Amino acid sequence: MKIESIEAIVLALPYTHEGPLTGFGGHDWPVLQSCLVRVATEDGLVGWGECFGYTVLPASIAVLDNLVAPLAIGRDATDIAGLMEELKRKLHIFGRGGPTQYALSGLDIALWDLAGKRAGLPVAELLGGRQKTAIPAYTSLLKLGEPAIVARGCEKALEQGFRELKLHETTVEAVAAARAALGDDVELMVDVNCPWRFDEALDMAHRFEPYRLKWLEEPVWPPEDVEGLRRLKAAAPVDLAAGENIPNVWAFQPYIDASVLNYVQPSVTKVGGITEMMKVIARAEFVGVRVAPHSPYFGPGLLATLQVAATTPLVSSIECFGVRLGDTVFGPVGLPGADGRIEVPTAPGLGADPDPGAIARLRIN
Ligand SMILES: [Mg+2]
Repeated sequence: MKIESIEAIVLALPYTHEGPLTGFGGHDWPVLQSCLVRVATEDGLVGWGECFGYTVLPASIAVLDNLVAPLAIGRDATDIAGLMEELKRKLHIFGRGGPTQYALSGLDIALWDLAGKRAGLPVAELLGGRQKTAIPAYTSLLKLGEPAIVARGCEKALEQGFRELKLHETTVEAVAAARAALGDDVELMVDVNCPWRFDEALDMAHRFEPYRLKWLEEPVWPPEDVEGLRRLKAAAPVDLAAGENIPNVWAFQPYIDASVLNYVQPSVTKVGGITEMMKVIARAEFVGVRVAPHSPYFGPGLLATLQVAATTPLVSSIECFGVRLGDTVFGPVGLPGADGRIEVPTAPGLGADPDPGAIARLRIN
Protein backbone atom coordinates (compact mmCIF):
# COMPACT_ATOMS: atom_id res chain seq x y z
CA MET A 1 0.00 0.00 0.00
CA LYS A 2 1.70 3.19 -1.19
CA ILE A 3 2.50 6.13 1.05
CA GLU A 4 0.63 9.14 -0.29
CA SER A 5 1.59 11.97 2.06
CA ILE A 6 3.75 12.78 5.09
CA GLU A 7 2.99 15.84 7.18
CA ALA A 8 4.48 17.31 10.37
CA ILE A 9 1.89 18.80 12.74
CA VAL A 10 3.29 20.71 15.70
CA LEU A 11 1.12 21.00 18.80
CA ALA A 12 1.79 23.38 21.69
CA LEU A 13 0.38 22.13 24.98
CA PRO A 14 -0.14 24.57 27.84
CA TYR A 15 1.11 23.29 31.19
CA THR A 16 1.92 24.25 34.74
CA HIS A 17 4.30 22.80 37.32
CA GLU A 18 5.49 23.67 40.80
CA GLY A 19 8.67 25.50 39.86
CA PRO A 20 9.68 28.52 37.80
CA LEU A 21 9.56 28.50 33.99
CA THR A 22 12.26 26.14 32.76
CA GLY A 23 13.40 24.36 29.63
CA PHE A 24 16.52 22.92 28.05
CA GLY A 25 19.27 23.89 25.64
CA GLY A 26 19.29 27.50 26.83
CA HIS A 27 15.61 28.10 26.03
CA ASP A 28 12.66 28.17 28.41
CA TRP A 29 9.54 26.26 27.41
CA PRO A 30 6.40 28.36 27.96
CA VAL A 31 4.46 25.53 26.25
CA LEU A 32 5.39 21.90 25.57
CA GLN A 33 5.68 21.12 21.87
CA SER A 34 4.90 17.76 20.32
CA CYS A 35 5.52 17.05 16.63
CA LEU A 36 3.01 14.59 15.18
CA VAL A 37 3.93 12.88 11.92
CA ARG A 38 0.81 12.13 9.87
CA VAL A 39 1.34 9.48 7.19
CA ALA A 40 -1.52 8.71 4.79
CA THR A 41 -1.63 5.78 2.37
CA GLU A 42 -3.43 5.63 -0.96
CA ASP A 43 -6.31 3.58 0.51
CA GLY A 44 -7.17 6.38 2.94
CA LEU A 45 -5.61 4.89 6.09
CA VAL A 46 -3.73 7.34 8.32
CA GLY A 47 -0.89 6.47 10.70
CA TRP A 48 0.55 8.75 13.38
CA GLY A 49 4.14 9.04 14.52
CA GLU A 50 6.09 11.56 16.57
CA CYS A 51 9.55 12.99 16.14
CA PHE A 52 11.75 14.73 18.69
CA GLY A 53 11.47 17.46 19.75
CA TYR A 54 11.11 20.73 21.55
CA THR A 55 13.68 23.39 20.63
CA VAL A 56 15.23 21.38 17.78
CA LEU A 57 11.90 20.70 16.03
CA PRO A 58 12.48 23.13 13.12
CA ALA A 59 15.53 21.04 12.14
CA SER A 60 13.69 17.70 12.51
CA ILE A 61 10.81 18.99 10.37
CA ALA A 62 13.21 20.27 7.71
CA VAL A 63 14.68 16.75 7.47
CA LEU A 64 11.22 15.20 7.33
CA ASP A 65 9.95 17.57 4.62
CA ASN A 66 13.07 17.85 2.47
CA LEU A 67 14.84 14.49 2.82
CA VAL A 68 12.52 11.80 4.22
CA ALA A 69 9.21 12.62 2.52
CA PRO A 70 10.56 12.82 -1.07
CA LEU A 71 12.18 9.37 -0.62
CA ALA A 72 9.26 7.70 1.20
CA ILE A 73 6.22 8.97 -0.70
CA GLY A 74 5.14 6.40 -3.27
CA ARG A 75 6.84 3.56 -1.37
CA ASP A 76 5.15 0.52 0.20
CA ALA A 77 4.06 1.38 3.75
CA THR A 78 3.87 -2.31 4.72
CA ASP A 79 7.60 -2.91 4.13
CA ILE A 80 8.71 -1.17 7.32
CA ALA A 81 12.03 -2.99 7.73
CA GLY A 82 13.01 -2.58 4.08
CA LEU A 83 12.01 1.06 3.74
CA MET A 84 13.59 2.16 7.04
CA GLU A 85 16.85 0.35 6.24
CA GLU A 86 16.98 1.99 2.81
CA LEU A 87 16.29 5.46 4.22
CA LYS A 88 18.97 5.03 6.90
CA ARG A 89 21.49 4.08 4.25
CA LYS A 90 20.54 6.95 1.94
CA LEU A 91 20.56 9.58 4.70
CA HIS A 92 23.48 8.41 6.84
CA ILE A 93 25.84 11.11 5.61
CA PHE A 94 23.53 13.69 7.25
CA GLY A 95 23.94 12.05 10.64
CA ARG A 96 23.11 8.71 12.25
CA GLY A 97 21.49 10.58 15.13
CA GLY A 98 20.03 14.00 15.80
CA PRO A 99 17.38 15.53 13.53
CA THR A 100 17.91 12.93 10.76
CA GLN A 101 17.18 10.07 13.15
CA TYR A 102 14.36 12.04 14.85
CA ALA A 103 12.57 12.45 11.51
CA LEU A 104 13.07 8.76 10.67
CA SER A 105 11.72 7.86 14.12
CA GLY A 106 8.52 9.76 13.38
CA LEU A 107 8.02 7.92 10.09
CA ASP A 108 8.80 4.51 11.61
CA ILE A 109 6.26 4.96 14.43
CA ALA A 110 3.59 6.03 11.93
CA LEU A 111 4.29 2.98 9.75
CA TRP A 112 3.80 0.68 12.76
CA ASP A 113 0.54 2.47 13.55
CA LEU A 114 -0.58 1.87 9.96
CA ALA A 115 0.48 -1.79 10.12
CA GLY A 116 -1.57 -2.33 13.27
CA LYS A 117 -4.60 -0.62 11.79
CA ARG A 118 -4.32 -2.67 8.62
CA ALA A 119 -4.09 -5.89 10.67
CA GLY A 120 -6.80 -4.83 13.15
CA LEU A 121 -4.35 -5.39 16.04
CA PRO A 122 -2.56 -3.20 18.58
CA VAL A 123 1.14 -2.78 17.77
CA ALA A 124 2.14 -4.83 20.85
CA GLU A 125 0.48 -7.86 19.29
CA LEU A 126 2.34 -7.33 16.02
CA LEU A 127 5.56 -7.23 18.07
CA GLY A 128 4.89 -10.60 19.64
CA GLY A 129 2.09 -10.11 22.13
CA ARG A 130 1.05 -8.15 25.18
CA GLN A 131 2.51 -9.41 28.44
CA LYS A 132 0.92 -6.56 30.40
CA THR A 133 -2.34 -4.65 30.23
CA ALA A 134 -1.14 -1.68 32.29
CA ILE A 135 2.28 -0.35 33.20
CA PRO A 136 3.29 1.62 36.32
CA ALA A 137 4.17 5.20 35.45
CA TYR A 138 6.74 7.32 37.20
CA THR A 139 6.41 11.06 37.21
CA SER A 140 9.44 12.92 35.89
CA LEU A 141 9.51 16.37 37.48
CA LEU A 142 11.08 19.27 35.64
CA LYS A 143 13.95 21.06 37.35
CA LEU A 144 12.54 22.75 40.45
CA GLY A 145 15.73 23.94 42.18
CA GLU A 146 14.74 25.11 45.64
CA PRO A 147 14.44 22.22 48.13
CA ALA A 148 11.10 23.55 49.43
CA ILE A 149 9.68 23.56 45.88
CA VAL A 150 11.08 20.06 45.28
CA ALA A 151 9.29 18.87 48.42
CA ARG A 152 6.03 20.44 47.24
CA GLY A 153 6.38 18.81 43.83
CA CYS A 154 6.86 15.42 45.52
CA GLU A 155 3.81 15.91 47.75
CA LYS A 156 1.66 16.74 44.71
CA ALA A 157 2.92 13.63 42.93
CA LEU A 158 1.93 11.46 45.90
CA GLU A 159 -1.54 13.04 45.85
CA GLN A 160 -1.81 12.08 42.16
CA GLY A 161 -1.11 8.43 43.01
CA PHE A 162 2.48 8.03 41.81
CA ARG A 163 4.60 5.51 43.71
CA GLU A 164 7.76 6.29 41.76
CA LEU A 165 9.27 9.70 40.99
CA LYS A 166 12.25 11.15 39.15
CA LEU A 167 13.97 14.46 39.86
CA HIS A 168 16.04 16.61 37.53
CA GLU A 169 18.18 18.04 40.32
CA THR A 170 21.91 18.02 40.98
CA THR A 171 22.17 19.06 44.63
CA VAL A 172 22.18 16.93 47.76
CA GLU A 173 19.78 19.40 49.40
CA ALA A 174 17.15 18.91 46.70
CA VAL A 175 17.44 15.12 46.78
CA ALA A 176 17.25 15.10 50.58
CA ALA A 177 14.10 17.24 50.47
CA ALA A 178 12.51 14.83 48.01
CA ARG A 179 13.26 11.75 50.10
CA ALA A 180 11.90 13.45 53.22
CA ALA A 181 8.68 14.39 51.41
CA LEU A 182 8.22 10.97 49.79
CA GLY A 183 8.91 8.76 52.79
CA ASP A 184 10.60 5.39 52.53
CA ASP A 185 8.16 3.46 50.34
CA VAL A 186 8.33 5.50 47.12
CA GLU A 187 11.02 4.83 44.52
CA LEU A 188 13.18 7.89 43.80
CA MET A 189 15.39 8.40 40.77
CA VAL A 190 17.68 11.34 40.01
CA ASP A 191 18.46 12.47 36.46
CA VAL A 192 21.36 14.90 36.30
CA ASN A 193 21.81 15.15 32.47
CA CYS A 194 25.57 14.55 32.15
CA PRO A 195 27.18 17.20 34.40
CA TRP A 196 30.20 15.45 35.93
CA ARG A 197 33.52 13.87 35.19
CA PHE A 198 34.01 10.40 36.65
CA ASP A 199 35.57 11.50 39.95
CA GLU A 200 32.91 14.18 40.55
CA ALA A 201 30.17 11.69 39.70
CA LEU A 202 31.56 9.15 42.16
CA ASP A 203 31.69 11.78 44.90
CA MET A 204 28.06 12.78 44.23
CA ALA A 205 26.91 9.15 44.11
CA HIS A 206 28.31 8.70 47.62
CA ARG A 207 26.65 11.92 48.80
CA PHE A 208 23.29 10.73 47.43
CA GLU A 209 23.64 7.30 49.07
CA PRO A 210 21.56 8.11 52.20
CA TYR A 211 18.55 8.86 49.96
CA ARG A 212 18.35 5.34 48.46
CA LEU A 213 18.00 6.09 44.75
CA LYS A 214 16.59 3.48 42.40
CA TRP A 215 18.97 4.85 39.78
CA LEU A 216 21.25 7.79 39.03
CA GLU A 217 20.70 8.89 35.43
CA GLU A 218 23.31 10.26 33.01
CA PRO A 219 25.89 11.09 35.68
CA VAL A 220 28.92 11.36 33.41
CA TRP A 221 30.18 13.98 30.95
CA PRO A 222 30.77 13.39 28.13
CA PRO A 223 27.97 10.86 27.59
CA GLU A 224 30.24 8.83 25.27
CA ASP A 225 32.60 8.08 28.21
CA VAL A 226 31.68 4.40 28.42
CA GLU A 227 34.79 3.62 30.47
CA GLY A 228 33.89 6.38 32.93
CA LEU A 229 30.45 4.79 33.36
CA ARG A 230 32.02 1.35 33.78
CA ARG A 231 34.37 2.64 36.51
CA LEU A 232 31.49 4.47 38.18
CA LYS A 233 29.29 1.36 38.04
CA ALA A 234 32.03 -0.63 39.79
CA ALA A 235 32.60 1.94 42.53
CA ALA A 236 29.30 3.79 43.11
CA PRO A 237 26.69 2.68 45.66
CA VAL A 238 23.80 3.20 43.23
CA ASP A 239 22.41 1.71 40.01
CA LEU A 240 23.13 3.67 36.82
CA ALA A 241 20.87 4.52 33.88
CA ALA A 242 21.61 6.27 30.56
CA GLY A 243 20.80 6.19 26.88
CA GLU A 244 18.13 8.71 25.91
CA ASN A 245 20.56 10.42 23.52
CA ILE A 246 22.26 7.33 22.14
CA PRO A 247 21.27 7.63 18.50
CA ASN A 248 20.85 4.06 17.19
CA VAL A 249 21.29 0.41 18.13
CA TRP A 250 24.89 0.25 16.90
CA ALA A 251 25.81 3.21 19.10
CA PHE A 252 24.04 1.49 22.00
CA GLN A 253 26.15 -1.64 21.70
CA PRO A 254 29.03 -0.66 24.07
CA TYR A 255 26.53 0.50 26.71
CA ILE A 256 24.50 -2.72 26.66
CA ASP A 257 26.76 -4.39 29.15
CA ALA A 258 25.93 -5.19 32.77
CA SER A 259 29.29 -3.80 33.85
CA VAL A 260 28.41 -0.36 32.36
CA LEU A 261 24.72 0.27 33.14
CA ASN A 262 21.85 -1.28 35.08
CA TYR A 263 19.25 0.39 32.82
CA VAL A 264 19.42 1.45 29.18
CA GLN A 265 17.04 4.23 28.15
CA PRO A 266 16.18 4.23 24.44
CA SER A 267 13.85 7.04 23.39
CA VAL A 268 11.43 5.98 20.67
CA THR A 269 11.20 9.42 18.99
CA LYS A 270 14.99 9.74 18.85
CA VAL A 271 16.52 6.31 18.40
CA GLY A 272 14.83 5.40 15.12
CA GLY A 273 11.33 4.49 16.21
CA ILE A 274 9.82 1.17 17.23
CA THR A 275 12.00 -0.88 14.85
CA GLU A 276 15.28 0.32 16.37
CA MET A 277 13.97 0.33 19.95
CA MET A 278 13.03 -3.36 19.71
CA LYS A 279 16.59 -4.14 18.61
CA VAL A 280 17.98 -2.33 21.68
CA ILE A 281 15.64 -4.29 23.96
CA ALA A 282 16.57 -7.61 22.36
CA ARG A 283 20.26 -6.96 23.06
CA ALA A 284 19.61 -5.83 26.64
CA GLU A 285 17.81 -9.09 27.40
CA PHE A 286 20.90 -11.15 26.59
CA VAL A 287 23.17 -9.35 29.06
CA GLY A 288 20.83 -8.83 32.00
CA VAL A 289 20.42 -5.07 31.55
CA ARG A 290 16.99 -3.63 32.22
CA VAL A 291 15.21 -1.07 30.04
CA ALA A 292 13.83 2.24 31.34
CA PRO A 293 12.48 4.00 28.25
CA HIS A 294 12.88 7.75 27.91
CA SER A 295 9.31 8.88 27.22
CA PRO A 296 8.37 12.35 28.48
CA TYR A 297 5.89 12.57 25.61
CA PHE A 298 2.18 13.26 25.21
CA GLY A 299 1.62 12.15 21.64
CA PRO A 300 2.24 9.03 19.55
CA GLY A 301 5.72 8.71 21.12
CA LEU A 302 4.11 7.88 24.45
CA LEU A 303 1.67 5.37 22.94
CA ALA A 304 4.51 3.74 20.97
CA THR A 305 6.52 3.41 24.20
CA LEU A 306 3.54 1.78 25.93
CA GLN A 307 3.06 -0.70 23.08
CA VAL A 308 6.75 -1.65 23.15
CA ALA A 309 6.88 -1.84 26.96
CA ALA A 310 3.88 -4.17 27.01
CA THR A 311 5.88 -6.79 25.10
CA THR A 312 8.78 -7.21 27.53
CA PRO A 313 9.42 -7.93 31.21
CA LEU A 314 12.56 -5.75 31.02
CA VAL A 315 10.48 -2.55 31.34
CA SER A 316 9.03 -2.15 34.83
CA SER A 317 7.84 1.46 34.60
CA ILE A 318 7.16 4.24 32.10
CA GLU A 319 8.38 7.83 32.27
CA CYS A 320 5.55 10.33 32.42
CA PHE A 321 6.22 14.07 32.23
CA GLY A 322 5.69 15.55 35.70
CA VAL A 323 3.58 18.54 34.73
CA ARG A 324 -0.11 19.35 34.73
CA LEU A 325 -1.23 19.61 31.13
CA GLY A 326 -3.81 22.18 30.13
CA ASP A 327 -5.02 19.93 27.30
CA THR A 328 -4.60 16.39 26.00
CA VAL A 329 -3.82 14.85 22.61
CA PHE A 330 -5.79 11.61 22.99
CA GLY A 331 -8.37 12.52 25.63
CA PRO A 332 -7.96 10.07 28.54
CA VAL A 333 -5.86 7.51 26.60
CA GLY A 334 -2.24 7.37 27.78
CA LEU A 335 -2.84 9.20 31.05
CA PRO A 336 -1.98 7.56 34.39
CA GLY A 337 -4.90 6.48 36.53
CA ALA A 338 -5.38 7.12 40.24
CA ASP A 339 -3.25 4.01 40.93
CA GLY A 340 -0.27 5.53 39.07
CA ARG A 341 -0.54 3.05 36.18
CA ILE A 342 -1.18 3.67 32.48
CA GLU A 343 -3.44 1.27 30.57
CA VAL A 344 -1.89 -0.05 27.37
CA PRO A 345 -4.47 0.90 24.73
CA THR A 346 -5.95 -2.06 22.84
CA ALA A 347 -7.39 -0.40 19.72
CA PRO A 348 -5.59 -1.25 16.43
CA GLY A 349 -2.25 0.43 15.82
CA LEU A 350 -0.82 2.59 18.60
CA GLY A 351 -4.22 2.43 20.26
CA ALA A 352 -5.59 5.92 19.65
CA ASP A 353 -5.61 8.69 17.06
CA PRO A 354 -5.02 12.30 18.05
CA ASP A 355 -8.30 14.04 18.72
CA PRO A 356 -9.08 16.33 15.72
CA GLY A 357 -10.43 18.92 18.16
CA ALA A 358 -7.12 18.91 20.03
CA ILE A 359 -5.23 19.38 16.77
CA ALA A 360 -7.49 22.32 15.87
CA ARG A 361 -6.97 23.90 19.31
CA LEU A 362 -3.24 23.25 19.72
CA ARG A 363 -1.66 23.32 16.25
CA ILE A 364 0.98 26.03 15.74
CA ASN A 365 2.42 25.25 12.29
MG1 LIG B 1 16.81 11.76 31.28
